[in-house]
Amino acid sequence: MSLSLYNTLTRKKEEFQPVHPPQVGVYLCGPTVYSEAHLGNARGPVVFDVLTRYLRHLQYQVRYVRNITDVGHLESDADTGEDKMEKAARAARIEPMQVAQHFTNRYRQHMLSLGCLPPDIEPQASGHIIEQIQVIEEIIGNGLAYEVNGSVYFDVPKYDEEGKRYGKLSNRSIEDQMANSRAGLEGQSEKRSPLDFALWKKASPEHIMRWPSPWGEGFPGWHLECSAMSRKYLGDLSDIHGGGLDLMFPHHECEIAQSQGSHSHTDEARFWVHNNMITVNGTKMSKSLGNFVLLGDMFKGPTGPLAFGYSPMVVRFFLLQAHYRSPVDVSDDALQAARKGYRKLMNGLRLLDRLTADSFSSDVIRDRTVAPLAEGRQPDTAAGDAELRKLVADVFVGLNDDLNTARAIASLFNLLRKFNTLAATTATMATVSSAALTDAVDAYRAVVSDILGLQDEPRANAEELLKLTLEFYTEAKAEKAYDKVDTIRAALKSQGIVIKDTKAGVEWAYSEE
Ligand code: ZN
Repeated sequence: MSLSLYNTLTRKKEEFQPVHPPQVGVYLCGPTVYSEAHLGNARGPVVFDVLTRYLRHLQYQVRYVRNITDVGHLESDADTGEDKMEKAARAARIEPMQVAQHFTNRYRQHMLSLGCLPPDIEPQASGHIIEQIQVIEEIIGNGLAYEVNGSVYFDVPKYDEEGKRYGKLSNRSIEDQMANSRAGLEGQSEKRSPLDFALWKKASPEHIMRWPSPWGEGFPGWHLECSAMSRKYLGDLSDIHGGGLDLMFPHHECEIAQSQGSHSHTDEARFWVHNNMITVNGTKMSKSLGNFVLLGDMFKGPTGPLAFGYSPMVVRFFLLQAHYRSPVDVSDDALQAARKGYRKLMNGLRLLDRLTADSFSSDVIRDRTVAPLAEGRQPDTAAGDAELRKLVADVFVGLNDDLNTARAIASLFNLLRKFNTLAATTATMATVSSAALTDAVDAYRAVVSDILGLQDEPRANAEELLKLTLEFYTEAKAEKAYDKVDTIRAALKSQGIVIKDTKAGVEWAYSEE
């Protein structure tokens, strides 16, 4: 049983084999940090967090790179328009790097609260200008890029003529792309072909973010950073390169062309893995369409199409209850169902704390068996053990099948049902062995907590509980039930809270002892 992943490059599910086992290099195209992240931006990080967690569970040594795009991400794929970062900076009258830092901080907070482990390396595009210039020089040296007026463009038709097939990732022919290309946009006059894309752009006088280069002051094109940083940290050929389906073309297509056209001469990654989109009433959630739900707002609610707020873990479960290659439509109904599912899994964890292997000692089993077993006879657990092992195996069948978390979660619920039966019916407790149960319990915990990354969230509101406790205290005092009064005082004191009886009524304060 091994992991298979759908490879966009080959358009089929393939068995995952690392280039250099046991090392695995994973690169995820990270955020452009010029504004708050919305729910659609969270799906990739959550999916690839689970993938890297699972690869680690499979004993691979994973290096997970998730970049920060803090420069050069232009408004459209036609290399026109204003830099998004600068636009945001100009609007707020601040230094662009301040904007980038602010939203980078916010992004990290949101990702941590969603349970995404920090990447092993989080490179910033602005910190890798030298590496990007180096890749451009290699591509020019290979005759696949040309300079015009301080800008450098990738020569797509020439690359294609060399048999490299620009469009192989997104499965588009050069002819179709030519027919669909948008003529007359800014910068097109400098290009030899409308399909050519910018590797380096000359900075206009008002452009704030600019760096010196062999072609004059400017900034890198928006596909270049990932090729340069993936190579720097994961080598010429990484194992997995991920991102949203909307990045497949042109972003990832251009990345492959840049890597093939440079001294790497590779497809940059062996597996190209794309997660599907979040939709609102069937339409893709995006900044440009204005139908987005910001993560910060979503955690509090209400916002946009949502009448309520949803905690980060509920949002994480919501994203994982679907297979990553299926679209997911966001609605209150769907999120409420997700909350139910999430809580069910968490209650499962709490059940397992009680259902420990200790209670399955042979003495206990003998006592609880309907027909008492003769001394020295072991109960027959073969059938029960096999059932339990099959339920556990099903969970991993789901994960191994192209990281189908939807299937894995459905199997977890089946396993949980079995746990509940075991906990509720003492007679059946003799039907499974301690070893099989321990394995199943360990597997459930590992999948829920370590692989899916679902943690228990404190749901109870401490203020509310304190208020309620003080009400009980007041009642107990009125009833002159001094035993209860003392118990409540002692319980709160152990939590660092003292009760004060004042003229105005009962109040509390932090203990100063
Ligand atoms: Zn990228």
